[in-house]
Amino acid sequence: MDIQRDVSLKGLNTFGIDAKASYFGEFHSVAELQNLISNPDFKSLEKLILGGGSNLLFTRDFEGIVLRNRILGKEILEQNEDFAYVRAGAGEIWHEFVLFCIENGFGGLENLSLIPGTVGAAPMQNIGAYGVEIKDSFAYLEAVNINDGKIQTFDKDACHFGYRESVFKKELKGQFIITCVVFRLSKKPAFNTSYGAIKTTLDEMGIKELGIKAISDAVCHIRRSKLPNPAEIGNAGSFFKNPEIPEIQYNILKEKFTEIPCYKTSPGMVKVPAGWLNEQCGWKGKVVGQTGVHKNQALVLVNYGNATGAEVKKLSEDIRHSVKEKFGIELETEVNII
Ligand SMILES: Cc1cc2nc3c(=O)[nH]c(=O)nc-3n(C[C@H](O)[C@H](O)[C@H](O)COP(=O)(O)OP(=O)(O)OC[C@H]3O[C@@H](n4cnc5c(N)ncnc54)[C@H](O)[C@@H]3O)c2cc1C
Repeated sequence: MDIQRDVSLKGLNTFGIDAKASYFGEFHSVAELQNLISNPDFKSLEKLILGGGSNLLFTRDFEGIVLRNRILGKEILEQNEDFAYVRAGAGEIWHEFVLFCIENGFGGLENLSLIPGTVGAAPMQNIGAYGVEIKDSFAYLEAVNINDGKIQTFDKDACHFGYRESVFKKELKGQFIITCVVFRLSKKPAFNTSYGAIKTTLDEMGIKELGIKAISDAVCHIRRSKLPNPAEIGNAGSFFKNPEIPEIQYNILKEKFTEIPCYKTSPGMVKVPAGWLNEQCGWKGKVVGQTGVHKNQALVLVNYGNATGAEVKKLSEDIRHSVKEKFGIELETEVNII
């Protein structure tokens, strides 16, 4: 592996933050990764695994080694009448993998079309959109232990998937490098069009025959029209998670804030859209120096060009404080802050 010194990460994170990595390298295979882990020159360095950099905020230079995952490969492992098991290298681009599955007639990931990033990062936060999460089609993954280089397999239970959560973001944070993911996809998929504007978009697009390709096209269309493109304006998608609160607390809030939206999650619990809370606190479209809150998406913090990660983080803290003060609700960050 070719290791470089003092590398700018500006082009490698969708926020476009100009942080530096003291060391930087790319690995293309498990063996290459294991060699690096066992190399005494790098053993003591802090390590950060980088995919597409679309869920990261660098608030400082990274004094250790940034390792970019470039393990590629897509393979249909086995299939029967109903299901197909498909494996993808962790460095594959997520959306390209989704398209590969659709081309082969395998359903389950179409609602997750166009989410930026890599396959390997997808289980990290159990990516989700339009009523679907990857846990719904997940079979297992392989990961390398960052301390001893040994390969370990994690099935769905071992991943402890939750809302934008997994064991890799919590208990095992920084301990494993995901090298491949295997999905169990359906050859007779049940279509999920109930969420967001999928149905109306399918109508507007004149799509009469429902299928996984049609759903993917509709999702791409909605996402392109709704979400800021990181190629045009630096961002990492939703900065905060939608907070889950007890229904009792929600009912008390509703007396004062009659318009407050929610959706039920489990008995006695509801989720409140964080974007709505931010908007009510006056943040939507706000510009603070080189950073700000997107004009159409109050959940998305942006870099207008030269913001530092510390500035974006400060803005996020100000938003959290104001939401806490007005609604008594604690916002949790979805983006990984470094
Ligand atoms: C415009 C936009 C829209 C988005 N929409 C959505 C959405 O709808 N739903 C959603 O869930 N997310 C969304 N995201 C967030 C993001 O796309 C996902 O979280 C994605 O999975 C991140 O992939 P990545 O490769 O860019 O990860 P990175 O940002 O590179 O890494 C994210 C975290 O995972 C770790 N990591 C990365 N790869 C590995 C690996 N192989 N092994 C171990 N750890 C690893 C990193 O160290 C870091 O902690 C959006 C982001 C943007 C910019």
